[in-house]
Amino acid sequence: MFTPAELLEINKLLTPEHKIVILTHYNPDGDAIGSSLGLKHYLKTKGIHAEVIVPNDFPKFLKWMPEAKKVLIADYKRKVASDLIYEADVIFCLDFNAPSRIGILGDWLTNSRAKKILIDHHQQPEKFDFVYSNTVIPATCQMVYHFIEAMNDENLVNNDIAECLYTGIMTDTGGFRFRSTSATTHRIIANLIEHGADPAMITSNTWDTNTVSRLHLLALILGRIEVVKDGKVAVLYLTREELKEYGFQKGDTEGFVNYGLSILGVKMAAFFMEDLYEDFIKISFRSKDDMDVNQFSRKYFNGGGHINAAGGKSYESLQGTIETFKVKIEGEESL
Ligand code: 5GP
Ligand code: MN
Repeated sequence: MFTPAELLEINKLLTPEHKIVILTHYNPDGDAIGSSLGLKHYLKTKGIHAEVIVPNDFPKFLKWMPEAKKVLIADYKRKVASDLIYEADVIFCLDFNAPSRIGILGDWLTNSRAKKILIDHHQQPEKFDFVYSNTVIPATCQMVYHFIEAMNDENLVNNDIAECLYTGIMTDTGGFRFRSTSATTHRIIANLIEHGADPAMITSNTWDTNTVSRLHLLALILGRIEVVKDGKVAVLYLTREELKEYGFQKGDTEGFVNYGLSILGVKMAAFFMEDLYEDFIKISFRSKDDMDVNQFSRKYFNGGGHINAAGGKSYESLQGTIETFKVKIEGEESL
């Protein structure tokens, strides 16, 4: 948590006179949108307006969240987004810890004179004016809750805040399953339910939203899943042609990589997908135990993230990327 002195300073910055912006990462997920909107709703209870800005669009299954439709998508409204960032007095940076994770917004953030406040749970944070970084907390949404507690404002948690924070904790813990899910996480979840979060509604709106295209894509990749390195590494992939053929929509492949990790004996799963528009391969890594995919992705695939969940990018062809990957995992001692 921020130090008491930092909390005092932050408290002074949070006034209705100040222009406040909340930013989150490229390809926003449930935790990114949940923490940003949760914080926005919290500030609103104190009479403070904040603008949530994201680099690019996010999946439909997150758009039910209170005020999700008011999130400013910089891809569609570049000028408005850059003006807001340059004019801001305070910028909250949620669920990412390096300007390179927010695309074009990264330069604007770096050049903005605003005070920058980081709340994030990824590995190896860069420099910000105020840093609340904790890599063993499963979701940034949980950290936003701790921030509200530290501000002595738990009594302000309302239905909107509760729904948003619940969603991000639920998605980033894979439904309260991943390793960093703790008793504290569950206590906070209990508080959020008491403040109005409805687990059945949130689960159904977020997860019972399969499109036929998603299920067809899933069937396709499961049908050709490959296990290498003595059964310890699962490899999944999708080509651009396939994405087009099946009518891919944003979010359709969310969670696919976890099927690889669910195979008995597998310690690491990698999912390679050609980007629909640009010439690069988006990679998702997941792992178990001490196989550190944050380090692995930083070292070989221009990425990073958490120890057991990370992303990366490759500018080789799809087949070339998969070949390179297979070579790199041969040298991995923790596998
Ligand atoms: P995903 O595979 O779901 O895209 O990403 C898994 C985790 O790694 C998420 O927490 C995400 O924020 C993070 N991540 C994804 N891509 C990158 C990247 O290129 N760099 C860094 N530092 N983190 C990433
Ligand atoms: Mn997160």
